[in-house]
Amino acid sequence: MYRVIICIAEPTFGITLNAKELNIQTATARDHLNGHSVIATSVSYNVEEETITLEFPQVLHVGSSWILDVTYIGLVNDKLNGFYRSVYTDADGNVHQLTTTQFQSTHARRAFPCWDEPAIKATFSLTLVAPQGMACLSNMSEQSRTLLENGMQEVTFLKTPIMSTYVRFDKYMKYLQKDIYAWVIGDFDYIEAYTSGEFNGERIRCRVYTPVGLADQGRYSLDLAVKSVEYFSRLFNIPYPLPKLDLVAVPDFAPGAMENWGLVAFRTYALLIEEYGSQDRRNEIAITVIHEMSHQWFGNLVTMEWWSDLWLFEGFATHLAYIVVDELFPGWNIWTDFYKQIQEVLKHDSLRTSHPVEVGVANPCEITQIFDEISYMKGASVLRMLSAWLGQDQLLLGIRKFIHKYMWSNANTEDLWATLAEECKVDVPGFMSKWTRQTGYPVLSVTELDESTILVRQNLFLSTGDVRDDEDTLIWPVPLGLVTASDPTPRNIMLDTKEMILKVDTTRWYKFNMEQTGFFRVSYPSKTLDLLGQTFGTAQLSAVNRVGLLTDVAALVTSGIAPTSSFLTLLKYFEDEQDYMVWAEVSIRLQELLAVWLEQPEPIMNGLKEVQRRLFTKIVKRLGWEFPEGEDPSTGNLRAVAIRFAGRAGDPDIVAEARRRFRSFMKDRDMTAISPDLRFPVFEIVLRSTQGVEEYEDIVNYYRETFVPAEKMVALSVLGYGNSQELVRRTLALAMSPEVRTSDILSAIATLRSSVIGRAELWNFMRHHWDVLYERHFGDIGFLDYFVSLSIESFSTLERYHEVQAFFANKDTSAYDRILATCLEGIRMNILWLGRDCKDVEEWLRVNGYLIDEATADNHVGEITNGTQGGTTEAHGGIAKGLLGINVNPLVLPSSSINGGSSITGTSSGASSGASTPPGGLQYPQGSIYSQHGAHVRSQVYLDGVGQASEEQTLQLLQLQQDQQQHELRMQREYQLQLQQQQQQQHQHQHQHQHQHQHQHSLNHNHNHINHTQLSRHQEQRPRTLEREMELLSMSGDYEF
Ligand SMILES: [Zn+2]
Repeated sequence: MYRVIICIAEPTFGITLNAKELNIQTATARDHLNGHSVIATSVSYNVEEETITLEFPQVLHVGSSWILDVTYIGLVNDKLNGFYRSVYTDADGNVHQLTTTQFQSTHARRAFPCWDEPAIKATFSLTLVAPQGMACLSNMSEQSRTLLENGMQEVTFLKTPIMSTYVRFDKYMKYLQKDIYAWVIGDFDYIEAYTSGEFNGERIRCRVYTPVGLADQGRYSLDLAVKSVEYFSRLFNIPYPLPKLDLVAVPDFAPGAMENWGLVAFRTYALLIEEYGSQDRRNEIAITVIHEMSHQWFGNLVTMEWWSDLWLFEGFATHLAYIVVDELFPGWNIWTDFYKQIQEVLKHDSLRTSHPVEVGVANPCEITQIFDEISYMKGASVLRMLSAWLGQDQLLLGIRKFIHKYMWSNANTEDLWATLAEECKVDVPGFMSKWTRQTGYPVLSVTELDESTILVRQNLFLSTGDVRDDEDTLIWPVPLGLVTASDPTPRNIMLDTKEMILKVDTTRWYKFNMEQTGFFRVSYPSKTLDLLGQTFGTAQLSAVNRVGLLTDVAALVTSGIAPTSSFLTLLKYFEDEQDYMVWAEVSIRLQELLAVWLEQPEPIMNGLKEVQRRLFTKIVKRLGWEFPEGEDPSTGNLRAVAIRFAGRAGDPDIVAEARRRFRSFMKDRDMTAISPDLRFPVFEIVLRSTQGVEEYEDIVNYYRETFVPAEKMVALSVLGYGNSQELVRRTLALAMSPEVRTSDILSAIATLRSSVIGRAELWNFMRHHWDVLYERHFGDIGFLDYFVSLSIESFSTLERYHEVQAFFANKDTSAYDRILATCLEGIRMNILWLGRDCKDVEEWLRVNGYLIDEATADNHVGEITNGTQGGTTEAHGGIAKGLLGINVNPLVLPSSSINGGSSITGTSSGASSGASTPPGGLQYPQGSIYSQHGAHVRSQVYLDGVGQASEEQTLQLLQLQQDQQQHELRMQREYQLQLQQQQQQQHQHQHQHQHQHQHQHSLNHNHNHINHTQLSRHQEQRPRTLEREMELLSMSGDYEF
């Protein structure tokens, strides 16, 4: 039964409430004053609006107040939303039941009739009737418990303070939830601890509820909860407002966590950790738990006014979580972790499909699509930038003031800026609005004017590398954070114009964005990047700065601002790197390149794997396989990363050792054979190195047998590396079977993307089972989004691009159109990147001794481990065409890279530092020396055995570069004319004739290898569409439909 007290503001015969799938039995209104009752005579259901209207036989007068009692029947479903049921099995094989609430934006009304808007707050009282022995939990403490005769118990909870049931979106979240108000019933164990009482006057009881038998795994989170409650009570100078705090690990829980006031729910994986759990997971759990704790004040005590302010509350909760972890565990360097976390956001925000952090929301249904990691993590990043600018202490004082001002009520973004501006005496709204209301972010390009002067210019950064002039008009206020070799204190200069001249000693290193507190990229001249690389072995730049330089270069190469070879060259400077976080980032950026190059000819892929193998094998040799007692956790992490990526690259010793340990672990049940940190890497290496089903089955059985949530997750998510079509299909079948919880399906299929077979099968699977997937998961918008994204985002060929477009062309994509557009734009970026730089990479591999081919085999002295004969340029092109459906274009390097790898062009038309490769400097790509005539200029590149050309050879190369540039300019002019002609033709023809034209065009201009990306960026007049973009691409070679 649902009871609510209402006051009548306008005379009415009817009352309308939200309700869905509820069968109303009776509805009675009782006058609060005189006890007079009226029974509703009819209930009308509006299915579309998801409301019910109760009609009364008499008018309810203005000013009267009524107690409304509604009895209804609802469903306890298995769909992970509304009020749902879940089952789990404990270590002894006993089956336990639980029911819990999970209210997405449209599912709260499935549990009880209500009005759901953030501004409508109320107090809530709850009575639950459940089997005796089950834990019954809600936001508040129990008020009374009565045992009933039928084996049931009736539990009544204390009345809540005033709270709302608004929609909230959370980290690791795939889902929206109606939160704050919640209840859970089920079989749980718990552990508890109390706060000191220092900041509350009374000690607050904190409990962690876990599935039966797993209580010990909640210790870490319990400790974090107690510490962070103390921390926030002190920080905000407001005691924790409720009498108790429970953290509950719920099996079958879709989002990472949700911050119901006093009853925070988590996925088991996000809350529980074994004693030996890895540092990465400790980081992740700490951030999640403390994020939720901060919401108890910043979100629950002060509530957002409207969904448009959601980003602020989520961004701040994340920002605060990092501040607290940094304070509690200073050795963790958690801000480096933060910067690593936002790389995905920087990537998404560099696509045209991105959106501002702050967006107007008219309808709550828009929220799932709009509030993604851009609003979430970019929000947190710009708050960090604000914090670096204002000073963290100032910012925290401002927040404290804000919470005091708005506690127990609602506030919006402007309210916070106004409070901060008043506190800090600076134009906070002016600064923040540029970052939160403009889409994207800038790349700073540095031009060295002389030995003491640089020009810094900001341009919109797009990873597709095709910024139009009309797009490049935005200006951001950029806190430069400039440090130099002689002055390590950041200079607090704000770049709030398009460009700025600065005095800097350019003969030594200098760096912007010190400690990576800013949300932008920086492109340095190659000479300076080289100088920065040389500091890597020293203490001059901290780890996060090295990560920043690496990730900036890795991003710039996708856009063509720098050639991909500059990224590969920079990797050399990491050889003596000791920091785990840096290595983790190296591995990620290298995998990103490998993922796009995945379908390239084998010799190229082997060359790239060889780069990876040499980097990581060295670390394994140094650290070995054992985890000594008392070792620094980050060393253990580094060992695990190194073993994983050296093994992934096929290092024979590491593969053999992994297989040996795997056998002991699986056959002899020797759990010590594989340290917990190595389980995922070893399982992966074994699966990748064989096509055998035996190892695969061992892991499936391990998944079925283990009761440790983290181990289950390892086994399940590694299966996607199964190395044959049969195994890939088995993984898909398992993922979709009842054996795998719905909330774990995405983890099970994510790794399929790492192989060509896996990608193809996943894509086929999605297409063939689309109707079922759609039907089954339609309500779970987050699920569908991610499924689509996992299935298509790794593609890097035109063929797949068109397949994806064609498949979704006749579908109602409204529930996931943003993510679909983002994926398509990402695929386009991959295609452009690959087309632009595949020769550059090939040449770098060759010059640096990672590739062998007929022309250079005799002269080559470097270490060659892959015995594959590479073939000629034409052969590669031919293979590439067969695999990719597009002829790789030998001359698609941006003109900047032709000038010795200058990386300052930004979006302007070819400005350049003009520096060629300095002697002994960064080995810049010689891929640019390819001739578009198809001649083997490469055969003139003799290696002297250390990867450097001789002086005479260098001169020859430079001459060739010049010749080639002139030729390119001629061809560009010619091509522009042809393009105009073709555009005119196309205007006159129907769409169905286009293919024919393109085909003719490509036949006519088979050898016109021109940088179409640049051409289109600067010269094209026609409005650009994706189709047009692809037309241009398809015309760039003899691609055929
Ligand atoms: Zn949150």
